[in-house]
Amino acid sequence: MAEIAILQSNTIDKIAAGEVVERPFNVVKELVENAIDAKSTSIHVEIIDGGSTLIRVTDNGCGIPTKQVELAFYRHATSKIKNVEDLEIIQSLGFRGEALSSIASISRLTCITKIEDELMASSYELTGGNDGKLQYIGAPTGTTILVKDLFFNTPVRRKFLKSSQVEGSYITELLEHLALSRPDIAFQYTINHKVKFYTTGNGSIKEVIYQLYGMEMTKELIEISVQEKNIKIYGFIGKPTLTRHNRSYEHYFINGRYLKSSLMAKAIEHGFRNHLMQHRYPFTMLYIEMDPSTIDINIHPSKMEIKFMDEEGFYQYITKAIEDALTTKELIPEVLLQEPIKEKPISIPKQPEPFEVIRHEQLVFEPTEPYIISKTYTKPPETKPIEQPKIETPIFLSKEASEHYEILGQLFKTYWLIAYDDRLYIMDQHAAHEKIKYERLLKKLVNSSIDTQQLFIPIIISLSPKEDVIYQEHDSVFEKMGFSIAHFGGREYSMDGIPMELFGGSEKDIFFELLQHLERSNEDLTSSYMLQKCASIACKAAVKGNTIMSKPQVAALLDELLTLENPYQCPHGRPTIITMTQYELEKKFKRIV
Ligand code: ADP
Ligand code: MG
Repeated sequence: MAEIAILQSNTIDKIAAGEVVERPFNVVKELVENAIDAKSTSIHVEIIDGGSTLIRVTDNGCGIPTKQVELAFYRHATSKIKNVEDLEIIQSLGFRGEALSSIASISRLTCITKIEDELMASSYELTGGNDGKLQYIGAPTGTTILVKDLFFNTPVRRKFLKSSQVEGSYITELLEHLALSRPDIAFQYTINHKVKFYTTGNGSIKEVIYQLYGMEMTKELIEISVQEKNIKIYGFIGKPTLTRHNRSYEHYFINGRYLKSSLMAKAIEHGFRNHLMQHRYPFTMLYIEMDPSTIDINIHPSKMEIKFMDEEGFYQYITKAIEDALTTKELIPEVLLQEPIKEKPISIPKQPEPFEVIRHEQLVFEPTEPYIISKTYTKPPETKPIEQPKIETPIFLSKEASEHYEILGQLFKTYWLIAYDDRLYIMDQHAAHEKIKYERLLKKLVNSSIDTQQLFIPIIISLSPKEDVIYQEHDSVFEKMGFSIAHFGGREYSMDGIPMELFGGSEKDIFFELLQHLERSNEDLTSSYMLQKCASIACKAAVKGNTIMSKPQVAALLDELLTLENPYQCPHGRPTIITMTQYELEKKFKRIV
């Protein structure tokens, strides 16, 4: 065995770097978090070749005093905590004092930094963490860290990197989250000399969403703002039309941190449950502020876990906030005859230099006029959808509207055309009726007051021995659902009453479906299965497409719709009504250019 020796500090740094820096993403994260901790109001990030050739982070924060610059590059050198007690109340993002030393040990690094009280800035250069060279140079207050040739001295790690595009995409996502977490900081992000996005740092979350996701998305948002004793939630959720096949649009920040939590995701999706089709996920941009002592965030460079002290309370709070937001807004999707171009308009106004402590003139974000975001913005190409003039959208499903709208007629025996204010509304009769039936049924189910339709001739059902056992265990469920069933003899039963909504033929199917399900699980009446069952009962009971209806019937349907909690989607998440503006039509007929 070789002789035992204490490792050199540079070797220790390199080993630590393995933990802290797996890929360029980690470098950017550590550097930007340092910039945020330094109270910067403007941060520029530039990467070349996915970050492996160059990463530059420039901020206008407090800077590092010249006599401490070298110290900052020692392992465990930090200004953020002094002792172990500080760990309990840590507010800043990083505190391990490992980032700068680790990054320096595996790159060619230059740090240019100046504090306000000093006249000159310092420039400190290191190669693989060695040969530190400190010089005075002229630079404004703030810090720039340049990281060149990452992993140049750890070739194995370099080999494990993915393509520049993939590494770049991790960084892009990170910066989006950081920009969203801090709308009060102006971010600019450049990839291979091209500005990818910028935010103005004027504090508007909606503006950051606009800059990152574009106008179409920004128009589809519902604002949330709820506060209770120890918890506050604000931000935006997408209307139910704004969905994804995966959870990539579910964003949330808890006490300023971008996190992933399965509890939070479930709570969000539960709040949306009556509005989304199966396997669709919503858009959310939620900011939650809560007492730090009620959560436990385990911050490790590569993962982030959160535990809530009161899981149930937190879950319900989030779900309710979303449900409330969805039920208080009119959610009729607007159709455009011309499909909008998905790409967001890229505008690159002159950005404030990171060093400009005084912000350039505050840009007022005006969602309906996206192109006035900067004075230097050039007009978009003609193909882009022209913004509509500002309208106070009228509330269609309201008592007031019901006195004024005009039912024009039925189309394809399925859709109803209704004119109100300066809009045309198109209602799907089946979807609307289905929703009415569904909500009614649900209420009755919850109150155990489903009406029973007595049958003149009872239906006899014969059960297998197994089915018989399940039925006897769960007969109260059937009773609550509105079935009236009596023992007939042996394993035969006589069904002499069925749920009112089922009258018409599907009662036996539903009975056996329910039985089959109860065999598998003991769910309660409000479980997702039961809701699904109600949806299928409602669907079977609702008026179908391809059926002629009269205008008074439709007027009654509309009147009922407006009493519902969520009249805008059928139980399967499809819209019940869509709308089109007069403006949109006139544009199509070229009355308006
Ligand atoms: P940590 O952030 O965990 O304290 P780092 O190695 O990332 O450790 O940074 C070491 C110290 O250098 C920080 O505590 C801070 O005092 C200083 N520092 C790093 N980056 C900046 C910056 N952008 N602006 C001002 N000070 C900085
Ligand atoms: Mg740090």
